[in-house]
Amino acid sequence: MLFMSNKGKNVAVVGAGLCGSLLALRLKQLGYKPVLFEKRPDMRSADISAGRSINLALSNRGLKALDLVGLSEKARTITLPMKGRLLHDREGNLRMSPYSGRPNDYINSISRGDLNSILYDAAEAEGIPIHFNMSCISSDPDSGELKFQDHSKNIQNFKADAVFGADGAGSVIRQAAMKKSSLLRFNFSQQYLTHGYKELSIPASENHDFRIASDALHIWPRKTFMMIGLPNLDKTFTITLFLPYTGEDGFDNIRTDADITRYFQKWFPDAMPHMPKLLEEYRTNPTSSLGTIRCYPWKTGAKTLLIGDAAHAIVPFYGQGMNCAFEDVVVLDKVMKNFEFGDWGNIFEAFQIIRKKDADAIADLALDNFIEMRDKVDDPVFAEKRKLEMKLENKYQDYYSKYSLVTFKEDLPYSAALKLGRAQDELLLQKIKEKGSADQIDELKILQELMDLRTKLEISI
Ligand SMILES: Cc1cc2nc3c(=O)[nH]c(=O)nc-3n(C[C@H](O)[C@H](O)[C@H](O)COP(=O)(O)OP(=O)(O)OC[C@H]3O[C@@H](n4cnc5c(N)ncnc54)[C@H](O)[C@@H]3O)c2cc1C
Repeated sequence: MLFMSNKGKNVAVVGAGLCGSLLALRLKQLGYKPVLFEKRPDMRSADISAGRSINLALSNRGLKALDLVGLSEKARTITLPMKGRLLHDREGNLRMSPYSGRPNDYINSISRGDLNSILYDAAEAEGIPIHFNMSCISSDPDSGELKFQDHSKNIQNFKADAVFGADGAGSVIRQAAMKKSSLLRFNFSQQYLTHGYKELSIPASENHDFRIASDALHIWPRKTFMMIGLPNLDKTFTITLFLPYTGEDGFDNIRTDADITRYFQKWFPDAMPHMPKLLEEYRTNPTSSLGTIRCYPWKTGAKTLLIGDAAHAIVPFYGQGMNCAFEDVVVLDKVMKNFEFGDWGNIFEAFQIIRKKDADAIADLALDNFIEMRDKVDDPVFAEKRKLEMKLENKYQDYYSKYSLVTFKEDLPYSAALKLGRAQDELLLQKIKEKGSADQIDELKILQELMDLRTKLEISI
């Protein structure tokens, strides 16, 4: 067994995904000695997919965290800006719905693997050891003892002053807490969606260009289900099909090549000609489930904290899971400033108290947004509301829509964004219903009402 010294300096980070790698980097910058353990091989040399979802939407909260470790500029070099949702109807008509009325607000498509590789390179450059092919199989949350199995099935033990469980939604570190759940009064819930997802693709065109517009997140909203597409640097698109498992238009009933062809011809006729590998990909690529995981406490013992998806996995419809996991590191960094070096017990306690409400808020917002993306984007009242929001954002620097509060106001906690955003939505929808259209609404009057709402809710931006 490798014993590390006992001054709070030696930290084990289990899971070198996006959150764990960023966290280790920050800890090193603060003077700790982090060690990363990752069950997968090194994605920079092994031919593996980085796991779930090939590309992700990176926005302000994630960029702020990357900035904290000095990597935001580097990350930006591998992003593609997406200015809005480009909506495809069944006839192939397109409508752009911008994310914001401010021209400089956009989200970024980024490859999960490339981003993780940037983090690995930076971690190694700082001298952080990354032990790949080391799967954590058990942990003692109080002593900091960890047991790993390497790729040859050898068992290796480690002991650290502090352990971070950054091992994602299926966290083994969290499972250890569940084993002593009555002692910890450990609450846990896992809520599956009725929908799953399958990844498909649109390749580059013959002249190596994008086949569809690259500056938007494409959505094919179909009320009870949808398909989305995010651009990649190699001019391809990663397409994600979100369908219910059951029912006529569910994964369970779209099985044969004839089913797939019929289904795509019916619902996504404009996308189909761009998807030459559709049948093969549909058959070969897995159908994966989606869900929300909530648990508490995240401090699962004297020496252990859950962080990122291990603490709070959410559905992907706000494009915030990674951004939120990165923001955990920003919040932790701030909390650590209030305590002595290595005072992990108090740091973990304070972190979970401050952060839990915001993780819950983004989990709720992400569930709301599924309905918005697949259904409401096509609703005329919703479209008028977005029109009004764009007008207000474009003209008045003080106003932020709910989407902008969550996505572009990185200093506003998610819980405040939820509270203000939902109240604003309610007010605007009510006005649109009363007046019939955005153009009939007195701009200054509604702006005043929106500002009054902010005062009433005691939220400053
Ligand atoms: C379809 C889909 C689309 C998404 N789109 C977006 C998006 O657009 N924007 C966004 O912000 N978020 C998005 N997300 C969410 C995002 O992927 C996660 O929130 C993010 O990956 C969480 O990072 P993490 O490091 O906490 O966990 P993970 O990325 O899951 O990393 C955990 C790491 O731990 C390792 N590990 C697991 N078990 C062990 C073990 N026992 N021992 C050692 N290592 C272990 C894993 O191999 C992995 O490397 C999406 C998710 C899905 C499913």
